[in-house]
Amino acid sequence: MTTDPHTIEATVTALHRHFATGATKPRSWRREQLLALRALLTENSAEIQQALARDLGKSALEAHMTEIGITVSAIDYALKNLKKWTAPRRLNVPLSLMPGRASLVREPLGTVLIIAPWNYPVQLLFAPLIGALAAGNTVVLKPSEVAGEVSDLLAQLVPQYLDRQAIALVEGGVEETTELLAQRFDHIFYTGNGQVGRIIARAAAENLTPITLELGGKSPVVVDGTTDLGVAARRIAWAKFLNAGQTCVAPDYVLVLDGVERQLLAELQTAITEFFGTDPQISPDYGRIINDRHHRRLMSYLSQGTVEYGGRTDVADRYIQPTLLSPASLESPVMTEEIFGPILPLVPMKSMDQALNFINGRDKPLALYGFVSEENQRRLVAETSSGGLVFGAALVHLSPHDWPFGGVGESGMGAYHGQKSVENFSHDKVVFTKHLLPDTLRLLYPPYIGFKENL
Ligand code: NAD
Repeated sequence: MTTDPHTIEATVTALHRHFATGATKPRSWRREQLLALRALLTENSAEIQQALARDLGKSALEAHMTEIGITVSAIDYALKNLKKWTAPRRLNVPLSLMPGRASLVREPLGTVLIIAPWNYPVQLLFAPLIGALAAGNTVVLKPSEVAGEVSDLLAQLVPQYLDRQAIALVEGGVEETTELLAQRFDHIFYTGNGQVGRIIARAAAENLTPITLELGGKSPVVVDGTTDLGVAARRIAWAKFLNAGQTCVAPDYVLVLDGVERQLLAELQTAITEFFGTDPQISPDYGRIINDRHHRRLMSYLSQGTVEYGGRTDVADRYIQPTLLSPASLESPVMTEEIFGPILPLVPMKSMDQALNFINGRDKPLALYGFVSEENQRRLVAETSSGGLVFGAALVHLSPHDWPFGGVGESGMGAYHGQKSVENFSHDKVVFTKHLLPDTLRLLYPPYIGFKENL
């Protein structure tokens, strides 16, 4: 159910007022809300799984692993560290300012807005919320209308479990989000595509509102002949075809060195059939494309090269088989747009220099993966820039709660998870108390006559 846009201004005003009462600042309130969010997830996991299955064909296990379980464990981690992350920290006072005492007081920003996308519609709405609550803010949540079943369910559950005076959920799409963006917030946390990211940045500039942008783009994989191609293929295939390729850090394409592309293709094919059988459409572990528009977009990529494996589709079922593609041109949309679906192009490269030029000639990726020799690993670390860089695996780097996760350049700005999330939604205020006597600052006062000679 879409929220009436006319109510949005009043909702945000009420949240600002409530923040001003100080009710969300005590650590006890923050703890209570984190526990309530935990209960929302654990007590309704079956309903949430069903909504995810209707929106994205997610299996129960995948829903647990990538949406519910991971969020619950992030809450537990936040609860365990809440005091450490939010308590004032003593600062050293330099000799020149002594006597006195100083501390860093972490204060909540105020009323914050969290806008989520549809691909992990539970995790990507609630993971930032953990940081916002742990930091003591009031919050507007805007789930993606594209994952409508999840949005409707969370719109029912959030007011049942969380403090209604402090957390509001607005349902809707462009119109409602535009109305939200016309309001003043103290932070906006947006996950989604870069085009809308620019709209968020422009709206935020009006009020000098700080923003975090968790964006996407093409995340490349580099494979060379020194790697175990069987293991590399399984790890790439798992990361690519999870959630039917609709993952921000999914491998987008593979650059293959040392002439091993045919062997890698064969190993990828083996991995796909091991995971999903010869007909993934009947596999309970394989997802669906979110909607017809994205299904059409993905279908158009299939004609932009030679389908080496897969390529079967079913419009009525929003199904696309895991597909391996040799692209006809490096300038075609499948090689220039973020694929965000289960189609994996493989591109032979003559040398590491060529691969590095290819990566560096494009936007900075959210993730970069390498299954390469130690020398090539060193070169990737030193000669590329990306949100994250992973060797020997893909996608798993976003699971440790205390590793900052975020992009750079076109793949985003700012990072979160664990303590970083709390920092995102807080201001660290220096509090310095200088004793009045003795008046050691007297040395700074004019007249400066006689001072210059000592410089
Ligand atoms: P989406 O269409 O659900 O849009 C994201 C949010 O923006 C939604 O809440 C939507 O209502 C809102 N929105 C859409 N158009 C708007 C407009 N004109 N004005 C204001 N708000 C608007 O999701 P999407 O953008 O298709 O998500 C996929 C993208 O997100 C991919 O690029 C993916 O890589 C990226 N992504 C990034 C991360 C990350 O953590 N970095 C995670 C997931 C997805």
